[in-house]
Amino acid sequence: MTTLLINIKQLLQVRETNVSKVSGADMKQLPMLENAYVYLVDDKIASFGLMADIEIASADTIIDCTNKVVLPTWCDSHTHLVYAGNRAQEFVDRINGLSYEEIANRGGGILNSAKKLQETSEDALFEQSATRLENVMHMGIGAIEIKSGYGLTTEAELKMLRVAKRLKEIYNFPIKTTFLGAHAVPANFKENQDGYMDLVINEMLPKVAEENLAEYVDIFCEKGYFTLEDTERLLQAAQQYKLIPKIHVNQFNAFGGVALGVQYNALSVDHLEELNDEDIQALQGSNTMPVALPSCSYFLSIPYTPARKIIDAGLPIALATDYNPGSTPSGNMNFVVSTACIKMKMTPEEAINAATINGAYAMGLSETHGSITQGKAANLIITKEIESFHVLPYAFGDNCIDKVLINGSVI
Ligand SMILES: [Zn+2]
Repeated sequence: MTTLLINIKQLLQVRETNVSKVSGADMKQLPMLENAYVYLVDDKIASFGLMADIEIASADTIIDCTNKVVLPTWCDSHTHLVYAGNRAQEFVDRINGLSYEEIANRGGGILNSAKKLQETSEDALFEQSATRLENVMHMGIGAIEIKSGYGLTTEAELKMLRVAKRLKEIYNFPIKTTFLGAHAVPANFKENQDGYMDLVINEMLPKVAEENLAEYVDIFCEKGYFTLEDTERLLQAAQQYKLIPKIHVNQFNAFGGVALGVQYNALSVDHLEELNDEDIQALQGSNTMPVALPSCSYFLSIPYTPARKIIDAGLPIALATDYNPGSTPSGNMNFVVSTACIKMKMTPEEAINAATINGAYAMGLSETHGSITQGKAANLIITKEIESFHVLPYAFGDNCIDKVLINGSVI
């Protein structure tokens, strides 16, 4: 099957050579072609160039992109998309003045999601999650990471990861999975955190590895959740199963989680709303991608990740949704890109780099996704008619997407 996109007003993120990520001042560069074409053969990008140079005469499908922008689909490297029910009631409670602690004491928070998930069958969980996945695909996501972490028992954690695996098989869509058993301490281990870490490390981790359910390991390294010692224990244990760390750090407090992640070769360190100079230093010269989650800051009214400080230090940054029922009930990467521009003072070029090629890097997918490059997956966004790509973040709240192609097919 061949597909030809013609008369593209702006074709964004064209990379002739394979760039795995972009950092620092380079993030301001978003290579593009004006009045361009892209030629897709089956599920891959076969070629692209200027309309003036086009040599392809026919294709099974021709899509006219006059006045439209084409770019690679978003790469969302941090989600908790597999979950049961929602926490809309807590949202209302919070508006009415209850604190996060008061909500937690009433049985809310992560433990509320865990209870719902434990009570939901694997099939029902799959149905709910599939609906969410289809929804975000239509909003332009073409690769995604999904974490466990609302199970908090061995059985329920495995259930979550099996659902993610089923999604991967059915949708023929790049889904990377992360084991996040250490997301919160369940109520029955409240006085025995070490006991819960024993369960995570000695029982859950080996089973996850045995069933080959995850590539990455994660932990909520934060005051009131898991300590640096817990984090180090887990990352050390995960090494023998070749699970690579992608960890939640510095959401509310900076106390050394970033450096620890770098020390264990984390692929990414995510959140970073609180970031000090030692954290920046730790990231310098490392292979670890800092990941910002601006929708979470928006929803919780907490500080935004200091993107300028990160970029101005010469580092890369990726953007992701953190789609989850508690702190970010939205998987909309378009909103993430807008919010990064509006609230984090990233330029549209930086935000699009962060949401495509750098997002791909944060999932180990930059060889196959995240840019318009010959041989990469034919996962593309075609916008509606817009003046320029600047409109994507500018017209926040608008749906600027006309079509999404996954593996060369319009979905
Ligand atoms: Zn998260």
